[in-house]
Amino acid sequence: MLVRLMYASRAASGVDDEELHAILRQAKATNPKRGVTGALCFADGIFIQVLEGGRDSVSALYNRIAADARHTDVVLLAYREIAERHFAGWSMGQVNMSRLNPALLLKYSECARLDPYKLSGGVTMALFEELVATASIMGQP
Ligand code: FAD
Repeated sequence: MLVRLMYASRAASGVDDEELHAILRQAKATNPKRGVTGALCFADGIFIQVLEGGRDSVSALYNRIAADARHTDVVLLAYREIAERHFAGWSMGQVNMSRLNPALLLKYSECARLDPYKLSGGVTMALFEELVATASIMGQP
């Protein structure tokens, strides 16, 4: 049984691009063994991550991530059983912020700033799905 989970969190102070790359390295090294795929966005000190995979694997990984001291205020935005993956091509893709079109943000929110704490989970998921469709997610499988 496949599930898709999305959460948002605030980066702890001191978390920078170097730490982000360490997190992505860790995800790319271990997610394939667990059959987990997904994408991670880091902008303005906020993480948004989508995890897809078997229910037990996604649940265990989410619990481990939620306990990580590198972020706080972890909020579950969406969780559902799925028939197919949307992020199958990425063990953990990275949203390419330089390709993030302000018009895309304005399509879904009041201002051209990514703030998942002010959006519904459904809206944030729709935004992520457009990021996949517009090739704004990068990274190795
Ligand atoms: P260990 O590596 O043994 O670490 C022990 C504890 O320390 C854990 O609680 C861990 O969360 C914490 N920790 C580890 N490194 C640091 C550090 N540099 N600073 C502060 N605390 C630390 N892991 C994945 O495998 N896949 C993912 O997709 C993934 N996504 C992540 C997304 C975000 C936003 C964050 C913050 C972390 C993510 N991680 C991911 C890392 C994950 O939280 C764990 O660190 C990792 O899975 C290793 O877990 P472990 O139990 O082997 O812990």
